[in-house]
Amino acid sequence: MIFETHAHYDDESFQKDREELLSSLPEKGIGRVVNVSSTLASVIESRKLAERFDFVSAAVGIHPTETAELNEERFSWLEEQAKGAKVVAIGEIGLDYYWEKEEEQQRRQRIWFVRQLALAKELRLPVVIHSRDAAADTVRLLKETDTGNASGVIHCYSYSPELAKEFIKMGYYIGIGGVVTFKNAKKLKETVRQIPPERMLLETDCPYMAPEPYRGIRNDSSYLPFVVKELAELTGMTEEEIERVTWENAMRLFFGEN
Ligand SMILES: [Zn+2]
Repeated sequence: MIFETHAHYDDESFQKDREELLSSLPEKGIGRVVNVSSTLASVIESRKLAERFDFVSAAVGIHPTETAELNEERFSWLEEQAKGAKVVAIGEIGLDYYWEKEEEQQRRQRIWFVRQLALAKELRLPVVIHSRDAAADTVRLLKETDTGNASGVIHCYSYSPELAKEFIKMGYYIGIGGVVTFKNAKKLKETVRQIPPERMLLETDCPYMAPEPYRGIRNDSSYLPFVVKELAELTGMTEEEIERVTWENAMRLFFGEN
């Protein structure tokens, strides 16, 4: 069974076949899914999906480039949502300096990143981190904001193998998805060769990031076996071992199971 740690089934691209697609996942070997929110509206939708489907859990949080919609009142609302049933993480939260280049925007991202990290600590929930072109500030803020034993995952990991090891030392997991199957993803393939499988998580980030041979089309969790196959080749493990280890990792992170 595969544990899908990062999906956006609330996305409008699933409008037509969401129910059917989600219902079909268990028979396709997808045992669990974390639906990750990115906006206030998607917090509501993620929680609805978790309520509707047994095997779906929700992550509640505001994506860095969406943090302009936050204020104190809405943050209080977010806090209440995060205490709700089947919420297993705060996310996705973090920094994205690729899409927002102005200092004022990046300052706003940092403020709400720190606030949401503190919320995760308070609720003892792990964090789902989105970090793009912002490695140094991400590491700095994670270190400065003592998240206790909350831990978390660096989702859609895109930095160097060395930095991955640093995140792992800090207690984080590395989220790996379709990108690892791309021919030109040399850095990510090298990262997979160098980090312990006990720190890897499987994710799609669907509808984005479909693996080869489906690159460019709408992604969903049923394509994760292509990622598993690539990880098996890179690590020398069997596909069954990759599924088992990443399943255990996700259960440990999101459900506190050993
Ligand atoms: Zn995402």
